[in-house]
Amino acid sequence: MTQTARGGVETSTGAASQPPTFESIDPRTGEVVDRHPVHDAAAVREAVHAARKAQSWWAELGFSGRKQRLDSWRKLLARRFDELAGRICSETGKPLDDAKLELVLVIDHLHWAADNAEKVLRRRKVPSGVLMAHQTATVEYLPLGVVGVIGPWNYPAFTPMGSIGHALAAGNAVVFKPSELTPGVGEWLARSFAEVVPEHPVFQVVTGFGETGAALCASGVDKIAFTGSTATGKRVMAACAETLTPVLVECGGKDALIVDADADLAAAADAAVWGAMSNAGQTCIGVERVYVVDSVADRFEEMIAERAAKLRPGGEPNAHLGPITMPSQVDVIRRHVDDALDRGGRALVGGRDSVRPPFVEPVVLTDVPEDSEAVTDETFGPVIVLRRVRDVDEGVELANDSRYGLGATVFSRARGLELARRLRTGMVAVNSVISFAAVPALPFGGVGDSGFGRIHGADGLREFTRAQSVTRTRYRMPLNPMSFGRSKGTVRRLVRLMRLIRGR
Ligand code: NDP
Repeated sequence: MTQTARGGVETSTGAASQPPTFESIDPRTGEVVDRHPVHDAAAVREAVHAARKAQSWWAELGFSGRKQRLDSWRKLLARRFDELAGRICSETGKPLDDAKLELVLVIDHLHWAADNAEKVLRRRKVPSGVLMAHQTATVEYLPLGVVGVIGPWNYPAFTPMGSIGHALAAGNAVVFKPSELTPGVGEWLARSFAEVVPEHPVFQVVTGFGETGAALCASGVDKIAFTGSTATGKRVMAACAETLTPVLVECGGKDALIVDADADLAAAADAAVWGAMSNAGQTCIGVERVYVVDSVADRFEEMIAERAAKLRPGGEPNAHLGPITMPSQVDVIRRHVDDALDRGGRALVGGRDSVRPPFVEPVVLTDVPEDSEAVTDETFGPVIVLRRVRDVDEGVELANDSRYGLGATVFSRARGLELARRLRTGMVAVNSVISFAAVPALPFGGVGDSGFGRIHGADGLREFTRAQSVTRTRYRMPLNPMSFGRSKGTVRRLVRLMRLIRGR
């Protein structure tokens, strides 16, 4: 049995049928929060089998029946807000207000999905075109069946719920494998859903390590929605290729923030520091790189340094930043900072000594070579790499010179939207940071090593459906080319018609 990075594995000595369990640990204190079963491939298959039966019932409820249940769940989440926020804090170590912010977003996105599913997915008429004028053409978005969701630990409720809420609203059943670091949050979500949908196991959780996630990929689900690192995303995709199971892949990022000469510098500095340091930098759409136009760089550096230097990590509920949740990430952060400094980088705030596991104090680096790991790879810690650029065009060029392409931020009074369009990312915030993630109607996702597919918004609902196109004959055409009974002149007349109307 695999040993988790933090908690121990225990093979049950009791009844032979009991699965082994593993611990979830509070990263602030190292204390055990709870124990959870390690679900093996057979248990995962069983969950998917039960989900398939439950899905028919759930789909039969129709949009209004499902909306009623999802609304009840949303209200339950709002009522028991503090309980779930506490669970998020104890498994991730993040400050209480950050957990609350995460849950506020969960509730708003769930509301949007339930409220808009019918409008986005129901059967609608489309033009039937000149050749098929005798047909009525419609398209409808039908549920896929059972969706497997694999989630990370950094936003253990918000991130997977972007798939879970939309997949459920679209009429699917869901089997969710949370990160081994945050299994309790996943279990809490599934238990609370079962309180409002007690009839059938429409939303289940399976817990364990990577093997449990791999088993979900091979279990015959109708789609996998994966959120996590690029390396695991590739493994998930390879496993799904075996059975041609479709995948949605939301991976890491190396998001850049660009500061133009005409920007509101105070607002930009505030956004850069919050975007980079909140949740201790463990945010897929967190700011990792800052490109600031030379003419305003001195003032901007001062503003960033002043704000970042005030932040203190800690385990108390009102600390600015919590610990690094995944112990092995501390080594990555240390390596990036050391390498940047070894290669001529300067620390404006913090430095090598800022890495004090389980906490990392804010670090702001400058003069770091663009090919160093701190610029090219996801650091996932409270670290900003700031670089002066000649103008915003150079900023855009450097921002785009990344294998990732998740989100980006632009601070510019005059050129915000123009610069946004030139960025090779799935999302851009102009004169604010991360705001796109909080707009339920906006699709969320990236390009390149950040993955593909979209959660949230109408695109996020359609991700969990199959488009079904239907044509229905309204009347018989005198010329029917799709019949062996067609006359010799039928196709000739058709070609003439096409040349006439489409050939000019
Ligand atoms: P990982 O890739 O390590 O794990 C993600 C999930 O995949 C976990 O549940 C993990 O289980 C599971 N898993 C591991 N191995 C396999 C496998 N072979 N087959 C199937 N599933 C497997 O990511 P982290 O949990 O460390 O999350 C951090 C990453 O997530 C960062 O790169 C971050 O940028 C990204 N992220 C992306 C977001 C986006 O929307 N684009 C949002 C939030 C985070 P276990 O934990 O048990 O190993």
